[in-house]
Amino acid sequence: MTTYEAIIGMEVHIELQTESKMFCSCSADAFSAAPNTNVCPVCLGLPGALPVINERAVAFTIMTGQALGCEIHAHNVFARKNYFYPDLPKGYQISQYELPLCTAGKLEISANGNRKTVGITRVHLEEDTGKLTHVEGGSLVDLNRAGVPLMEIVSEPDIRTAEEAYAYVTQLRQIVRYLGVSSGDMEKGAMRCEVNLSLKPVDSDVWGTKVEVKNLNSFRAVRNAIAYEIERQTRVLESGGQVEQVTMGWDENRGRTVVQRTKEDAHDYRYFPEPDLPPLELDPAWIAELESSLPELPAAKTERYISEWGLAAQDAAALAENRARAEYFESVVAAGTKKVSPRAVANWMVGEVFRLLNESGIEVDAIKFTPADFVRLIELVETDAINRLAAKDVLADMWQSGEKPDAIVEKRGLKQISDAGALDAIISQVIAENGDAVAQFKAGKEKILGFLVGQVMRHSRGKANPKMAEKLLREKLTE
Ligand SMILES: [Zn+2]
Repeated sequence: MTTYEAIIGMEVHIELQTESKMFCSCSADAFSAAPNTNVCPVCLGLPGALPVINERAVAFTIMTGQALGCEIHAHNVFARKNYFYPDLPKGYQISQYELPLCTAGKLEISANGNRKTVGITRVHLEEDTGKLTHVEGGSLVDLNRAGVPLMEIVSEPDIRTAEEAYAYVTQLRQIVRYLGVSSGDMEKGAMRCEVNLSLKPVDSDVWGTKVEVKNLNSFRAVRNAIAYEIERQTRVLESGGQVEQVTMGWDENRGRTVVQRTKEDAHDYRYFPEPDLPPLELDPAWIAELESSLPELPAAKTERYISEWGLAAQDAAALAENRARAEYFESVVAAGTKKVSPRAVANWMVGEVFRLLNESGIEVDAIKFTPADFVRLIELVETDAINRLAAKDVLADMWQSGEKPDAIVEKRGLKQISDAGALDAIISQVIAENGDAVAQFKAGKEKILGFLVGQVMRHSRGKANPKMAEKLLREKLTE
């Protein structure tokens, strides 16, 4: 039986987070305003209205291209893409065709533990369409979104599996969020994916018929639609049939792809250079300036955390995932220079702070205590002034009150008992009360010691130094 492999290319549309639209001064916030309020003659496509290019949208597209290692073209041209649809007021979309802003880049992805490079064919700039809502008896159109800057990223057909596609889109989103060029919010339609997929026998170079799956609005949909199509096309080929060239959509509820258009009514967009806009000639110095303003990207951060600070790969990746969190982490490391290690900061961040962030639904900019206070808390643990358990309480208190860790330790009497004399009485009491456990330990059941340490912790109301308690217990029980 023939084994097939999938050849997958992706087209990802990303709405840019600019103040105004692509070619007019209307607000580009298409989500929160009442329908059809952010509109003007330009984005409504009224006769005689002329477009003006949004400089920031161009900058954002170039930055994305640079982050993806693309070649940036100082000379580029906007083109008219002609088609009729009720959400497109002008009857054409201004896009880029033959001469896009960025070409020939790459994105390194990591899927199922394997790394691979996905080629980026092009990154170009265009305008979004309006939004149709289908209701009983007809359809409603909202043109607030018409003219919102839209960046399209087209990949080479280098992706082979649903997991790789998933990794590709998640990493793209991470990059646009890092750059601050888009919210990347799929639920709000700020990022939309299309997949081109065909199968070929593993031992052949002949690709099968290409099927397009459009409007994938979640990462899960990307993964599920690809897995479904690979299975469906394999079934067709194995039963001796032929895959038809179609455009499909993804039916989330039924978990299957559905045909939207067949080859016969494929579009001819009749592209030609946009006559209302001159070719865009960019100053190479400006392009260089944009490049030097790029932040350190997540892959580079992860690498640096591992090589310079000795973090575990998983922690490094978790810390680098979100730019604000990564920068916060780095500010704590900087505040802790010569006091606490980056590894210790990383442990507290990934463990406790991430949990508190997730539970409270706030982000790092709303944390009430300073990086220096965070460092002080870690110092208190590392110098055995308080134990880990108490430190978690102190952190939770700092989180709520913003108070200094030393003040909280004092107020709540959490100072660790590391004094052998003070622990001695508690340990004698625990030994007296737990004859059974003591006998088991003496009979060689090493594990029971943990239980006895727990009892010491309980009697000291969590304040005993557990390492010291264990040491003293062992001494007493073996003397
Ligand atoms: Zn407008």
